Amino acid sequence: MTEDPGRRCDVIVIGAGLAGLACAGDLCRAGLSVSLLEASDAAGGRMRTDRRDGFLLDRGFQVFNTSYPQVKQRMWLRGLRLRAFTPGALVHTPSGRLRFSDPTRRPGVAVDLLSLRPVAGRRDLLALGLLSARDLLGPVGALKRSADRTTRTALADAGISEELVDGFFRPFLSGVFLEDGLETSSRFFHLVWRSMLRGTQCLPAAGIGAVPGQLAGALPPGVLSRGTPVRALTEAGVELPDGTERHAPCVVVAAGPEAAARLLPGLTVPATRTVTTYYHATSRPPLQEPTLLIDSAQRFLNTCVLSEVAPTYAPADRSLISTSVLGTGGPGEEERLRGALAEVYGADTSSWELLDARTVEGALPAMPPPWPLSRTTRVAAGRYVCGDHRATGSVQGALASGARAAREVLADRGGRRGPA
Ligand SMILES: Cc1cc2nc3c(=O)[nH]c(=O)nc-3n(C[C@H](O)[C@H](O)[C@H](O)COP(=O)(O)OP(=O)(O)OC[C@H]3O[C@@H](n4cnc5c(N)ncnc54)[C@H](O)[C@@H]3O)c2cc1C
Repeated sequence: MTEDPGRRCDVIVIGAGLAGLACAGDLCRAGLSVSLLEASDAAGGRMRTDRRDGFLLDRGFQVFNTSYPQVKQRMWLRGLRLRAFTPGALVHTPSGRLRFSDPTRRPGVAVDLLSLRPVAGRRDLLALGLLSARDLLGPVGALKRSADRTTRTALADAGISEELVDGFFRPFLSGVFLEDGLETSSRFFHLVWRSMLRGTQCLPAAGIGAVPGQLAGALPPGVLSRGTPVRALTEAGVELPDGTERHAPCVVVAAGPEAAARLLPGLTVPATRTVTTYYHATSRPPLQEPTLLIDSAQRFLNTCVLSEVAPTYAPADRSLISTSVLGTGGPGEEERLRGALAEVYGADTSSWELLDARTVEGALPAMPPPWPLSRTTRVAAGRYVCGDHRATGSVQGALASGARAAREVLADRGGRRGPA
């Protein structure tokens, strides 16, 4: 093995997803020399956008929440040119379309609440109001310290009926957790619910990839090396596939759970969830509002007309529709989906053009209770691991874990600048 001359730095960060970008950014701001090595051709990890024939295709449907503390702290929101979803969601049920809205946002929305009678009685509305008020207004520390159980149990304990769970929470949260048993940590649910009530669900005009793009653009020149996969960690740093070594006293693995387990044998990583997003194009929007649509029969996780949220997602004369399902899709899935979408949108979907079907394996870590919301990133002397799998499967979790890795690196160096 040879050392690439001039390739010695204070910290090597492996992986330029949100966690690696946050970590590298914080370490650079602290005055350290940092090398951020990314295997693929661009930064972003699981948050990337492809441009095709005038469409913006995110690598799996996802939304950007403006109220995450890490987002507020480190992102320049105006620069993202955010386009908002309508707060809440439309639910397709056998008895028609219901609108779940946030009464604190839209005047007159109480009328919508009356339309929820098929799935939510008066007691449910009261229980939902109490749960939401506590999550919205209570101290975040209390939510973080609350007893952790499954979201299903937490909703039942909050007095939400099975009708409302099955008619709204299960179909809605399946698209957030990427699992349909509501097995996910209730602490994570309460934090997500709080952030939904406090913030706005958006898409950047240039696609979801603009989020990591902004963080990557703020790094000093020369920090980020794309197309640079790390093969292994060595005593002195890391080894690249061509056998060259790069040396640094500290190495932070921000490579996602599967790669982290390969690079750090013995590291325990969680199971992960898989999702497939179908992108269809059509000449007329089947729904003329920027609203998420879910299906009480759960034939899919969610669907929406992306170009109604952000017109930049499609050419002027076209509409872009995103629909996600759990798992890998599979043969016949798209045909089946077209039938369900025809019913849900009340539109003829036979002429819709399938632009792409994106399966994202390892989209999110599974987060069963008890799920620690944040873990130390220290795994050995000078070795750290961060990413959403060490916190929560979210933009907030990935950024917070990257920030924690930077803090722990700095603390271990005793705040020294320059070579340790
Ligand atoms: C379809 C989908 C929908 C989502 N929806 C939402 C949502 O609505 N709201 C929300 O808050 N969050 C959502 N998320 C979660 C969020 O996107 C992730 O939690 C976050 O992007 C994870 O960032 P990360 O840095 O931890 O990992 P990653 O993004 O996985 O980054 C790891 C990086 O390491 C690189 N790498 C791997 N191995 C190596 C190696 N050997 N050498 C060098 N580089 C390497 C990879 O190429 C990658 O760039 C969603 C995720 C997906 C996939």
